[in-house]
Amino acid sequence: MSESFDLIVIGAGPGGYVCAIRAAQLGMKVACVEKRDTLGGTCLNVGCIPSKALLQSSEHYEEALHKFADHGIKVENVGFDLSRMMARKGEVVGANVKGVEFLFKKNKVTWLKGTGSIVKAGVVAVDGTEYQTKNIVIASGSESIPLKGVEVDEKQIVTSTGALELEKVPGHMVVIGGGVIGLELGSVYKRLGAEVTVVEFLDRLVPSMDNEVGKQFERILGKQGMKFKLKTKVTGATKSADGVELTLEPAAGGAAETLKADVVLLAIGRRPYVEALGLDKAGVALDERGRVKTDAHYATNVPGIYAIGDVIVGAMLAHKAEDEGVAVAEMLAGQKPHINYNAIPSVVYTWPEVAAVGETEEQLKARGIAYKVGKFPFTANGRARAMGDTDGFVKILSDKATDAVLGCHILGPDAGTLIAELALAMEFGASAEDVARTCHAHPSLNEAVKEAALAVDGRALHI
Ligand SMILES: Cc1cc2nc3c(=O)[nH]c(=O)nc-3n(C[C@H](O)[C@H](O)[C@H](O)COP(=O)(O)OP(=O)(O)OC[C@H]3O[C@@H](n4cnc5c(N)ncnc54)[C@H](O)[C@@H]3O)c2cc1C
Repeated sequence: MSESFDLIVIGAGPGGYVCAIRAAQLGMKVACVEKRDTLGGTCLNVGCIPSKALLQSSEHYEEALHKFADHGIKVENVGFDLSRMMARKGEVVGANVKGVEFLFKKNKVTWLKGTGSIVKAGVVAVDGTEYQTKNIVIASGSESIPLKGVEVDEKQIVTSTGALELEKVPGHMVVIGGGVIGLELGSVYKRLGAEVTVVEFLDRLVPSMDNEVGKQFERILGKQGMKFKLKTKVTGATKSADGVELTLEPAAGGAAETLKADVVLLAIGRRPYVEALGLDKAGVALDERGRVKTDAHYATNVPGIYAIGDVIVGAMLAHKAEDEGVAVAEMLAGQKPHINYNAIPSVVYTWPEVAAVGETEEQLKARGIAYKVGKFPFTANGRARAMGDTDGFVKILSDKATDAVLGCHILGPDAGTLIAELALAMEFGASAEDVARTCHAHPSLNEAVKEAALAVDGRALHI
């Protein structure tokens, strides 16, 4: 038996690495097992960060192509170099993953390189070497969900991982799945000149979105040239030298049709990743959807073994994983942290962006909660006009009796940044009136948030 630790975290994604750092800050002797060559997990290596790097580059290209002229900026022969774009994305990822390595050194977290499996409570094996530990946190993340008949080769039929590495822009990209990842990566290649068709089983994109926002979002993406085949299922894919032929059927059943693509992006969701962890042997229970089953304190059914992030119930988001990482570390140190799961923002990083926190109008209706609505469009916001980004609106939902903010939905420029104000408001139990009475800098996009808060009480000033 080699070294022993207070805590061994399995997986160095945003859940695992943050948990390891926080536990070390609290005085624990910590190791984090990671089998990738670099730290940072899905998020830093093949998720949030590389996708945002490509979204940024393609957005700049799109602006140079279609928006600069309106600002009186003349650029001729606008083009792009995909290999440079990809290399830059690699540099961004490199800087981030190195950053985590630095943080591990700074906090004296030991990186155990290799695949970790749980021998039993208190013992983790990493590629054959056993380590003793007081506690174990499983933070093994998630993987892309496969689709029967659509075999991924990461060249012609890709998951998000392959889509982040394409060597050339496809003529026609078909995205299976109208969720966040498909729409973001579809946007990247659309901006770079691909024809993009999104095939979605349901009758709407990103089903968790507030309906009104979702409808306008779909219209805007449609105006940008993205095509949608909703209420449609993909039943098979045939590959040949000149592309992929997909077989589609109406979701409700009916006549089949075919659709040709140069590249197919399979993005129908992600599922918990528990391979090689030895959970069976250790007796750790999974729920009906293959997630590690935990209680409100992230404890599994086996004492001393905890789980956080994408591998457990809840939104598969990096910041949710991070907050759980902090919470479990603090609980192990005897503190009493708390996460307000109703105040976790979610963002789609297309342009315009879509961001939400709290409940949608549909959820409030379903729960029979009386609410008020305040809306404000970016067309009436001075800063959005100056930017030339007036698509979208801010919508705030507050409790009819108490005025407490229950949810906020933003479609518009920098929605992902704007939503933070409302997440904070919800954390503090603020009312729409509180947000409306807070002084907001002028001219700023945040003024649209203030105006939506005023609109809850029917007294928006600038519309
Ligand atoms: C294309 C894409 C874009 C995304 N964009 C966003 C975004 O913009 N914002 C957002 O919030 N979320 C985004 N996500 C989701 C986000 O990446 C995840 O929610 C987040 O990474 C989950 O963190 P985690 O720590 O639970 O797991 P992961 O980040 O998946 O990390 C788990 C780590 O555990 C390692 N591991 C697993 N098993 C073992 C083992 N037995 N031994 C050793 N190591 C092991 C894996 O190698 C991996 O590195 C995106 C995801 C994708 C795919």
